[in-house]
Amino acid sequence: MKLDKMSIKFKLFFYLSVFAAAMLIMLWLFQIVFLDDFYRQIRINNIKDSAETIEENINNDNLNILLNSISQQNQTFIRILLEDGSNVFSSDAAPDSLIHRMPSSELYALYQKALQNGGTLLELRTREEPKDILYKDKPFEGKMPRGYGMKDESMIYVETVEKEDGSKVIIFLNSTITPVTATVDTLRIQLVYVTAITVLLALGMALFVSKSISRPIIKINSSAKELARGNYDTVFEGRGYLEIAELNDTLNYAARELSKVEGLRRELIANISHDLRTPLTMITGYGEVMRDLPGENTPGNIQIIIDEAKRLTTLVNDILDISKLQSGTQALTAERFNLTKGIEEILKRYGKLTEQDGYRLKFESAGDIWVNADPVKISQVLYNLINNAITYTGADKTVTIAERISGSRVRIEIIDTGEGIAEEQLPLIWDRYYKVDKAHKRAAIGTGLGLSIVKTILDMHRAEYGVISKNGQGSTFWFELRLDSRDAETKEGGCKLT
Ligand code: ADP
Repeated sequence: MKLDKMSIKFKLFFYLSVFAAAMLIMLWLFQIVFLDDFYRQIRINNIKDSAETIEENINNDNLNILLNSISQQNQTFIRILLEDGSNVFSSDAAPDSLIHRMPSSELYALYQKALQNGGTLLELRTREEPKDILYKDKPFEGKMPRGYGMKDESMIYVETVEKEDGSKVIIFLNSTITPVTATVDTLRIQLVYVTAITVLLALGMALFVSKSISRPIIKINSSAKELARGNYDTVFEGRGYLEIAELNDTLNYAARELSKVEGLRRELIANISHDLRTPLTMITGYGEVMRDLPGENTPGNIQIIIDEAKRLTTLVNDILDISKLQSGTQALTAERFNLTKGIEEILKRYGKLTEQDGYRLKFESAGDIWVNADPVKISQVLYNLINNAITYTGADKTVTIAERISGSRVRIEIIDTGEGIAEEQLPLIWDRYYKVDKAHKRAAIGTGLGLSIVKTILDMHRAEYGVISKNGQGSTFWFELRLDSRDAETKEGGCKLT
């Protein structure tokens, strides 16, 4: 099983077990394998230190006090002899003391060895444990208990020292190292229990921790599956720790957004099919009338068919524009152009509308204004804002387009005298497919895409934009473009806005 396919439970158990095993191995190494060596080393250093202290104080009259104290505190047997074998000092002789039991010949041999060795000698001696064979031919009931301390290990340290008066003394120190064996055996038994307890604890903890970690994840996962099935009202409820709470919030946010998009999508389909059906019904209706009734074949009726076809075109273009803009496939092709001239060109095209329906489009120009922007896209912005203003303006049928210089920017305002927009709707009108008043007769003409196109284009230009509007007091849509700092070389020219 690959590690990333493991459930949290197994993974945690795996890691905890590795951790526990590492701890146990360390414990075992230090407490059992190396304990003897550690202990032995400590004892060796200890005995060497003792010898050194004795050597330093060998001429002291109160040497005996020091020797007794070393002997008691360090459980060390001490003998100090003269070269001829006569005793200078001997700590209390105990049955364990090798240097007290040894015949003088052996002590002499040790002394000789020390001399050859440069004056000091350290010797480790082991007395083997009596073998069980001893009991084999004399059967006893039950198990023979192991004899702790039967295996003796002791060390002898020999040092020759010259006293102030020129006489030579030999210091013999002897201490046992045995007790560790007993300790190790105790520890070994304890370690078996510790291992068993640790494994159980690791398992228990893995289960507990994994459960508390995975519970919210499992919960979130099943909610996410719900969401994937299209149930956008799903609420994510996983709690327990920071990361999960954050994931939870993010998913709740995503679910809310998805449900919004889903709502808008449904609305769009309803809107678009309605918007497509209206002109199509008109076109078919007028077409049939003109076919069946010769007298109805008038330029007026043909115009209606053309207008409706144009509406369809606008609608389809809007949808295409927004999807192209928002998919990021359209790049800006910014160039230097005369904005004032551009606006005038656009207004010229509205000429027919003003004549026919009595709309008044006023332009407050600020002279030749040069900007560096994408002329085609800026004209889309202007068309959309002016179309909206014409659609929603008041009974005086007036729309004002104002051009104002403020610092290094030009501010374009499209002002109408209509009903305005309620304050709570203001942040929403830039959203895709958003329409304020669905019952409004004229509003039904729009697709709800116009301002979204405007927003996307102005964002691409990093332009500032906004709307000032109050219910009943008309609306002012505005945007600002940075002026092109170069001087206008071609005063009369200027790029045509399409
Ligand atoms: P539409 O195609 O419906 O006009 P828009 O994205 O251009 O879509 O506008 C979104 C909504 O903002 C419109 O449905 C309308 O209610 C509101 N709106 C836009 N411009 C104006 C305006 N000048 N006056 C009043 N309301 C407006």
